Amino acid sequence: MRDLYGGIEAGGTKFVCLVGRGPEDIVDRLRIPTDSPTETIQRVLDFFRPFAAEGRLAGVGIGTFGPVDLNPASDTFGYVTTTPKPGWAFTDLFGAVQRGLDLPAVIDTDVNAAACGEQAWVGANRGLDPFLYMTVGTGIGVGAVINGRPLHGLIHPEGGHMFLPHDRQADPFEGACPFHGDCLEGLASGTAMARRWGQPAECLPQHHPAWELEAGYIAQALVNLVAIFSPQRIVLGGGVFQHVGLLAAVRSGVKQRANGYFKSKMILETIDEYIVPPALGDLSGVLGAIAMARANAG
Ligand code: ZN
Repeated sequence: MRDLYGGIEAGGTKFVCLVGRGPEDIVDRLRIPTDSPTETIQRVLDFFRPFAAEGRLAGVGIGTFGPVDLNPASDTFGYVTTTPKPGWAFTDLFGAVQRGLDLPAVIDTDVNAAACGEQAWVGANRGLDPFLYMTVGTGIGVGAVINGRPLHGLIHPEGGHMFLPHDRQADPFEGACPFHGDCLEGLASGTAMARRWGQPAECLPQHHPAWELEAGYIAQALVNLVAIFSPQRIVLGGGVFQHVGLLAAVRSGVKQRANGYFKSKMILETIDEYIVPPALGDLSGVLGAIAMARANAG
């Protein structure tokens, strides 16, 4: 009986795989470091194969680091494309999984998968559309569910690479993005914080000026996202948000910068319910991959 789904969250440092039906019904899990594509994909296939062989898997979903080609008409559909991650550029992740397991498969960005997961499995998020998920970790990504589907368009959203006002007197750091220098990711990712301050973000003390600067950049980015997408809720995940107080500082930064312009009770009165941490913790992405697999299997 094909009553289970496979979920894969493919990250630059680790792969997380689940077999199950949803957050309350996880049958098996695998967490491995990201090695070469050949070795890593082999271990992923080995994990799912017994379930596939028993005829229990109805399909597999993949949420991957990117950039990833999501155009079904393209010769490189499902490939991780121009990543600087050694060995991974132009890896056919989707094809390897689909052929390796011989199952219906679906692929999206890690952040689109996380947005799908938070929206599909968290009761309070159901029906909120547009729905955004932003992660701030090694990099910054923005996923969007719009009209019930993850947003792709020309490529897929790359909200981490939006540009912000950069006051070089207050913050002379030139930025860490290899493509753009001081885009959002270049100024506010964990990588940028480590390079600017000479120590990893998690080691920066509670009252270090890094945190006010960080909250300011993220708040600016969120005001831009609110202005463009008019989302009904924004989830903020990623390692940098482990810092106590950052989320609260971001919320008040959004209110301050929006300056009363967006006439919504969500922003003016209940911003704590509007900008929220992930209800699924660090499983949003892989559980989103299971939600995608379920939707794909119909
Ligand atoms: Zn950039």
